[in-house]
Amino acid sequence: MPLKCAKCGKEKAELSIADGRVRLCEICFIDYYEKKVKETVEKYDMFKPDESLGIAVSGGKDSSSLLYCLRKIFPKLDITAIHINLGIKNYSDHCEMKVKELTDRLDVKLIIKRVEDQGFSIDGFKNTIYRRKICSPCGIIKRHLIDEMAIKAGVKVLATGHNLDDTVGTMLSAFFSEDFTQLVRLKPVLYPHHPLQTKKVKPLLRMTELEDYLYALYSELPIRNQSCPHSIGTQSRETKKLLERLSEGKPGFRYQVLNLFLKKLIPMIEDKLKQPDLTICKSCGFPSSSEVCAYCRRVSLVKSVIN
Ligand code: SF4
Ligand code: ZN
Repeated sequence: MPLKCAKCGKEKAELSIADGRVRLCEICFIDYYEKKVKETVEKYDMFKPDESLGIAVSGGKDSSSLLYCLRKIFPKLDITAIHINLGIKNYSDHCEMKVKELTDRLDVKLIIKRVEDQGFSIDGFKNTIYRRKICSPCGIIKRHLIDEMAIKAGVKVLATGHNLDDTVGTMLSAFFSEDFTQLVRLKPVLYPHHPLQTKKVKPLLRMTELEDYLYALYSELPIRNQSCPHSIGTQSRETKKLLERLSEGKPGFRYQVLNLFLKKLIPMIEDKLKQPDLTICKSCGFPSSSEVCAYCRRVSLVKSVIN
């Protein structure tokens, strides 16, 4: 006999949520998801319900669920969706199409930047020292362009779709590689240190990857069904596998790690960590901890192999 939903007791329960102890039907799951995202936004004072908010959207399940959910629970938000077309063959145009479909459906303003219009492509890093680690320059380029677009669009806050699995995985690998600056960047809210930086928030911090996928599925969102060709064998995939092994039989494991880092370890580390002195990149004019920022250095590298 099918299990009944733990909340409404009527519908057939489709899935286990949160720490694996509760089974919900589709309708109650959507309600649970939206309430939890709202609670996270309010708990960390991420933004006001009528603020101007940029949302970085990639065409994947996480950022699409984030955009749809925030539009639904905060109808007065002034949302600008921000998308970067990375110019990756057999992938990026498909992602852009899904983002356009979703923003059209929600009637949300969309701004797009195409990396190829900047005179290079992410695929071009195959011919550099990053040939086996393309995600590293790709991450730097995405972050820089999204920050730049958010500032130019005048949004007060920028939201990204980092989920619980991403965050906990990155926390563990940053901790073991002693990258404490990266660890502190995983906080739910990052306040700007310069007028050319935006407040950054992670409203999906407490939602698992599976929950984001199911929310997108039940809400019938257009999401990409192709994977990035550079994602095979990446560090983040390996970290995810490790996390799955560590969580076996311990459904609350990810939440325990998140709470340990957010409540104990990050505040301790932050106390000792000196903020890097910010200067202005002499090439692009954006805040940087060195004379030429990490983005401009990667761009000049990839352009040098094209020319
Ligand atoms: Fe960029 Fe790597 Fe993601 Fe592909 S998998 S979009 S290369 S970060
Ligand atoms: Zn620069």
